Amino acid sequence: MFETLSRGFRQARNRLAGLTELTEQNIETALREVRLSLLEADVEIGVVKAFLSRVKEKALGRTLEVKVKHGGETHEVSASDHFIKICHDELEAMMAHEGQEIVWAQSGATGIMVVGLQGSGKTTSCAKLARYLDKEGKKPLLVAADMQRPAAVEQLKVLGDQLKIPVFNIPGASPVEICAAAREHAKKQGRDVIIYDTAGRLAIDEPLMKELADIKSRTKPDNIFLVVDAMIGQDAVKTARSFHDRLDISGVIVTKLDGDARGGAALSIKEVTGAPVLFTGLGETTDKFEPFRADGMASRILGMGDVVGLMQDFEQVVDQKKAEKDAARMLQGDFTLDDFLEQVRMIQKMGSLKDLVDKLPIGNMFPGGLPQDVNLDDRELVRIQAVIQSMTALEKRDPYALIREPKRVERISKGSGSKPEAVTELVQKFLFMRQMMGGLGQNMGMLGKIPGMK
Ligand code: GDP
Repeated sequence: MFETLSRGFRQARNRLAGLTELTEQNIETALREVRLSLLEADVEIGVVKAFLSRVKEKALGRTLEVKVKHGGETHEVSASDHFIKICHDELEAMMAHEGQEIVWAQSGATGIMVVGLQGSGKTTSCAKLARYLDKEGKKPLLVAADMQRPAAVEQLKVLGDQLKIPVFNIPGASPVEICAAAREHAKKQGRDVIIYDTAGRLAIDEPLMKELADIKSRTKPDNIFLVVDAMIGQDAVKTARSFHDRLDISGVIVTKLDGDARGGAALSIKEVTGAPVLFTGLGETTDKFEPFRADGMASRILGMGDVVGLMQDFEQVVDQKKAEKDAARMLQGDFTLDDFLEQVRMIQKMGSLKDLVDKLPIGNMFPGGLPQDVNLDDRELVRIQAVIQSMTALEKRDPYALIREPKRVERISKGSGSKPEAVTELVQKFLFMRQMMGGLGQNMGMLGKIPGMK
């Protein structure tokens, strides 16, 4: 699945290999590879253009953002990782849908009308959907209303038998009559989801659309799912557009993704029609059916097994780099009250002080728990924050100002709700700690370099 697309992204990544920075020029080169594979994979041309321009814009912006974050320096997330991360996010955004796949009825049975061209895999998908819902604890009823294809009713009955899911049909009745009668039948049988397998045609025509519109107005389904075959490429997108214009479909089931090396349809449908892909068919048997997950699909399209790990690393790297730099600065005695505040906030994010100490090796030194006189009051952290936040930029940069001009201490005391002595004590402790850190750094300098230290 998606080999053509994956090839393009892999080649783009190779083009950027070894580079540390994304520039307009190397982005263009990488995008050329992607463009070719998107077109070859049958992605709609407008979608290709929009995707490429969004990736380009983000890629240029991202370089800037990282540079700003690191004080004008480039850092070690490689250009190719950046690029792939941006592509991943854009692919995901392009295919993602909000909310649940299925809209559930407020009262009575939920109706799901399934439409599509002949041979798209509509009848099979109805059975797959019924099986999926049955596994979710629902009680589906299948309605055989595809009178167009002679074998369709029989096919659905066979599948229903295999799955032990009832199939409703009225021999000789019209599709609209069958569907209209299904609700009553479902009620009697205690079924809570009704899946209507409607008629297909070889191509879209007016009688088909009229029949489907009639069924829609008679049954008022909560969902209308269109089944499209991924193998027909761009035609799948055109089909989706026509059905959506006429029936206002709620989502698409893309079938035969197991057989298609191109898969462009899955990528274009939402962008072109506005209707999201909700499920995928991945084989002939009824178990080969999955809810569509845009993030998983983006990873599969990129064709890189390590993409998820890459994403996580990426999210963390900015913080890691900063933490390393902070550590280096601290050990050089260059540590500000803002750094201090940031660390206090980090500790708070990790949970309570007591929990934190329990997780550390020193926690185990006290088998009966920490001694009572060790005071770990989380409120202390809140107090420290309030004091630092009441300081001016100058005071944070130069805490000695508080010792030189006691009036400042008074102001901070009022602003933070701490006693003046507490403010002074905090500043003294901070200055002492900074001095100690600096001394520690010098000693370590003799022992060897620490990561991030120049
Ligand atoms: P309908 O005319 O739209 O009702 O189509 P069918 O449900 O009869 O499916 C047409 C053919 O496509 C059948 O041979 C199915 O087994 C096959 N089919 C349906 N879904 C899939 C799928 O996800 N993968 C593969 N490989 N074949 C499928």
